[in-house]
Amino acid sequence: MTGDARAPRILDGAALAQRIRAEVARGCQRLEQGRGIVPGLTVVLVGEDPASQIYVRNKEKAAREAGMRSGVERLPAMTGEAGLLQVVERLNRDPAVHGILVQLPLPGAIDVHRVIESVDPGKDVDGFHPLNGGRLLAGLPGPLPCTPAGILRLLKHHEVPLAGRHAVVLGRSNIVGKPMALLLLREHCTVTICHSKTVGLAEVAASAHILVAAIGRPALVTGEFIKRGAAVVDVGIHRVTDEATCRRLYGDDAQRLAAVRDRGATLVGDVHPLEARARAGWLAPVPGGVGPLTIALLLENTLAAAERSGA
Ligand code: NAP
Repeated sequence: MTGDARAPRILDGAALAQRIRAEVARGCQRLEQGRGIVPGLTVVLVGEDPASQIYVRNKEKAAREAGMRSGVERLPAMTGEAGLLQVVERLNRDPAVHGILVQLPLPGAIDVHRVIESVDPGKDVDGFHPLNGGRLLAGLPGPLPCTPAGILRLLKHHEVPLAGRHAVVLGRSNIVGKPMALLLLREHCTVTICHSKTVGLAEVAASAHILVAAIGRPALVTGEFIKRGAAVVDVGIHRVTDEATCRRLYGDDAQRLAAVRDRGATLVGDVHPLEARARAGWLAPVPGGVGPLTIALLLENTLAAAERSGA
């Protein structure tokens, strides 16, 4: 690794996402002109979770901007599993819907695995269906989970060396950690997956050339977790609402402090930003790193599903 540890190169997810979204928009135009197909994405939202409401609104807007037909099925929080499965079934049969995304988390009483398995694997633009997970495991083509697929694109776009390097993935969720590890393995990294029971977490992390942090713990990844010159990808998203914490994480960063004072919050990931900047060779920051790519890859998966439809 040759990254300059004192000035990490920023893995700019916002810029890459913009390029991908522009390419998707051109693809949508070509598909409509060539075959009369307008890609359709429908998001299913159960309940009133405020964060989910924002995510869904952003996805809907992004799909529309790319030239897709975009819809949201809003179901009340008390909707039972049977009711949700009926909606998914209807969308599975609707030829105008090429991509279905069930926004997570779902209310506690609903079996999330049953719901994910009910989505037509060909319309599974989240890449969460076990069949598509199996395809990833087997090295076969198929829709990839958007966040890890976006991270891989980001690393490749910035020419971070992968083959033969040690990649450590912190977190083993089905959505981020596990598929991330498989994608890095596919790129010939030597991969270690860590989780809440890992002994000596900091030490294992500090042996990584590529460190992906997806644990959902604000700024847990401090300097001692980071090998000098490593590529650090921060997947976490958390709100920082008090000035003292903001100073601990961002020092005297005037913009961050102003955000806390004027808008009530700034964001931080799973990685301690100041300490990472002092050691990393590459850094995907929060915000502007991984987040924008998740939506861009969702649009790409939807376009690909529409291109496959009726073929
Ligand atoms: P998750 O389902 O809660 O999984 C968290 C993983 O981290 C689990 O495997 C857990 O281990 C592990 N973990 C938790 N605390 C740990 C600790 N102290 N030490 C080591 N491992 C620990 O979370 P997720 O859905 O993968 O998401 C992770 C983070 O990424 C969250 O902050 C989420 O908001 C964010 N996220 C961002 C995007 C984006 O687009 N930017 C997309 C998805 C997620 P166990 O398995 O042992 O419990």
